[in-house]
Amino acid sequence: MEKSNRRSFLKNAAIAGTAAGMSLTTAGFFPGRIYSEENSDFNRVFYRDLGSTGYKVSEIGFGAMNMRDPELVHAAIDKGINYIDTAHGYMKGVNEEIIGRVMKTKRNKVFLTTKIHPRDTYQENVDMLDKSLKRLQTDHVDLLLLHNESDKKQILRNDFMKFFDDARKKGQTRHIGVSTHNPAEILDASVESRFWEAVLIAYNYLSPPDVDASIKKAREAGLAIIGMKNLRTTRPRRPIPDIRKDKSGKTTIQQALIKWVLQNPYIDTTIPGMTSFEHLADDVAVMGMELSIDERHAIKQYDENTKGRYCSGVVGCNGCKNKCPNGVEINEINRCINYAYGYGDIELARENYSELSRLNRVEMCADCEECVVKCVNGLNLTENIQRARELFA
Ligand code: SF4
Ligand code: SF4
Repeated sequence: MEKSNRRSFLKNAAIAGTAAGMSLTTAGFFPGRIYSEENSDFNRVFYRDLGSTGYKVSEIGFGAMNMRDPELVHAAIDKGINYIDTAHGYMKGVNEEIIGRVMKTKRNKVFLTTKIHPRDTYQENVDMLDKSLKRLQTDHVDLLLLHNESDKKQILRNDFMKFFDDARKKGQTRHIGVSTHNPAEILDASVESRFWEAVLIAYNYLSPPDVDASIKKAREAGLAIIGMKNLRTTRPRRPIPDIRKDKSGKTTIQQALIKWVLQNPYIDTTIPGMTSFEHLADDVAVMGMELSIDERHAIKQYDENTKGRYCSGVVGCNGCKNKCPNGVEINEINRCINYAYGYGDIELARENYSELSRLNRVEMCADCEECVVKCVNGLNLTENIQRARELFA
């Protein structure tokens, strides 16, 4: 979002917010939200402050990871979604290229985020960022994230911090942050660092209880908090069975899970993956809505139905971390398997697996007939090791 256009964009949103403020507050909406009346009822979009950045972003952003259609991004922006999330590594760069085609005409309408998995040399990182900006057809992003880091030692590395700081000084990004599947540790470390400005966290109804306290602390310290991984699996679009008398409910479990995330006022935006116009319509429709009792029941039911089938490592479960006698981080392997079996995305599973260190690969399990590690959620880890062998061999 360019500064001048951003100002008028925010002004319009703020004016609309004042006009609607009374009814929204009394209806139980978060007071910090701003409602844009520029759109029709169906397209109504709510905005929240993005940490201390000074930007207001739609409370549902566009998770572009598996998206292949630039028209979908155009449509999302036209509806009022103004937060776009991509990464250097998604689809081996094709994802940034697709977003770039849209940025050619819509760069000043969005808050654009990309991510880089830093390498060991400064120059490699400089080259990666230059390449990303070229693909995105812009000279800067609004937020550059250190991609997918679970270990706080890594986000405090001087060489990584210098690269991100330099990128900000050069104007290649306005803000810097971290993305993680280990939210509590990384949020706490980011606050202590007084360096990072935003954290993108895996967050859903399965998140361990300590995560909420870390989110609150980080948000109160001024960090921007962005949620991802609302679902543990792909999107079932079947509506939740309606148990109300008027039989008017049409919410899907995906919508209920997004609402669950947005119940937390310390979450500034969340980025469900959108790959179709149906996803876009579903997601836009839940902005500003509260989670109903029926939907809470439905989430509980969904949890029971999927228990023991999918790993919760993507939302920070570390139940099997450090439990392997041979030092293999089996939670990382299980997280990758979940991309294949939960999200149905084998390419993503392989991409993530390829980023694991040699010591955390299934080759290290060759001498075990049975995995002695126990999953706190009842997954059969011997079976999972076998699946990993088949998938990643
Ligand atoms: S395998 Fe089980 S214990 Fe390990 S991270 Fe996944 S859900 Fe948690
Ligand atoms: S199969 Fe063996 S080496 Fe692999 S994680 Fe399980 S116990 Fe560790």
